[in-house]
Amino acid sequence: MMLITRNNHNISRKNISKNALKILNRLSKLGYEAYLVGGCIRDLIIGCQPKDFDITTNATPQELKKLFRNSRVIGRRFKIIHIIFYNEIIEVSTFRGNHRNSSIHTKYKNFKKNKNGLLLTDNIFGKIEEDAQRRDLTINTLYYSMKDFCIRDYVGGINDIKQKIVRLIGNPELKYREDPVRMLRVIRFSVQLNMRIEKETARKIPKLANLLTHIPSARLFDESVKLLQTGHGYNTYKKLKQFSLIQSLISSNSLSINKKLQSITEKITIQTLKIIDFFYKKNRSVVYSSLLFSSILWYTQLYTTLKIKHEKKIRYIDAFLLAINITLNNKVFFINIPKKISAKIKKIWIFQLHMNNHLLYSQHLFKNNKNRTLIQAFELFKIRSHIENYNKLNYITIFWKYVSNKKSNLFTHSHNKIF
Ligand code: ATP
Ligand code: MG
Repeated sequence: MMLITRNNHNISRKNISKNALKILNRLSKLGYEAYLVGGCIRDLIIGCQPKDFDITTNATPQELKKLFRNSRVIGRRFKIIHIIFYNEIIEVSTFRGNHRNSSIHTKYKNFKKNKNGLLLTDNIFGKIEEDAQRRDLTINTLYYSMKDFCIRDYVGGINDIKQKIVRLIGNPELKYREDPVRMLRVIRFSVQLNMRIEKETARKIPKLANLLTHIPSARLFDESVKLLQTGHGYNTYKKLKQFSLIQSLISSNSLSINKKLQSITEKITIQTLKIIDFFYKKNRSVVYSSLLFSSILWYTQLYTTLKIKHEKKIRYIDAFLLAINITLNNKVFFINIPKKISAKIKKIWIFQLHMNNHLLYSQHLFKNNKNRTLIQAFELFKIRSHIENYNKLNYITIFWKYVSNKKSNLFTHSHNKIF
């Protein structure tokens, strides 16, 4: 273990959350070991403001629950405690032990793997040294104590931060099999922190990429937001593709059958990611899931519409409406889109048709000008006209740009001027 004393690192108390400091002090007064750990220490060393502060301790979840009234136990696979303050939530985990020979808290011994090596439950507790081995990346495994203001480094994390290397702790294949989401985390951190991926850590990814299809699709959705909607979406997409991970996240039957559909879907995905990256720089708190997924699935929606229209010999609009549910419930699309977001996607798609018939519907739509879904619908429309380079679409886009910059009463008598 390498001990980095307070004179040899740049972490200062003033950059640490007051709530986290309170928890650390309380635990240490009661005789527990407690450390700040993970992304917050990594970010403070790099010199950026951490998103959240995580704590790890030798107190068990049950003990923590009793000590902090404002807390709740969460997680099935890993039990952790959330301590809730009015402006933030601090995550507190108990040192995780080694599966084979954890000596500590044997009454909590509890872990299970499936046939692919996936960890189903993992609530064996241990010592800090064991906890370090159970984490994912060296850069995420630095422990900071408020008792002596030292950083403890058990796996060479400090050096890897300096050298800008993303490196898994332990045997990469085993680590990916235990939790395939670690492959996505490796890509995410390497793009976000502009670091290179250590050779063995990188080499195993394409081979094991399809293990991601076993991960609950709701977890993949959460991970996809962190990957694609936090300012580095386009670069992350490129890297996911390079490591054969993209098809485990966003691929559907129709995409693999139809090459043309595949290529235009890729085009619209890239264009949308570039735009979302741009939005993120302006306003970090907004998430554009409905824009992103309405755009990724747009051409699949059109493809499904035509298929249904042809099969059932019904009107285009009726086929379009039927296709919406089929496209959104596509089970081979590995990310599960939450209900709230699919409802918005539905609106965005119907808006696409309305916008085509602008003169007829514009007034009705325009009343909801402040509506975020409408704004996203318009973004999708602009993206489509950009990538399709279809004159009619461009012409309507100009019309809509004009309309959305004006007050609604202006529009009725001004459209003559544009056309
Ligand atoms: P950020 O919060 O900036 O996205 P982070 O590194 O803090 O990054 P979290 O998801 O908050 O990531 O996790 C906190 C810590 O828990 C990580 O730093 C890592 O040590 C550990 N951890 C998270 N996910 C895993 C995992 N899948 N396998 C092993 N350890 C993990
Ligand atoms: Mg974190």
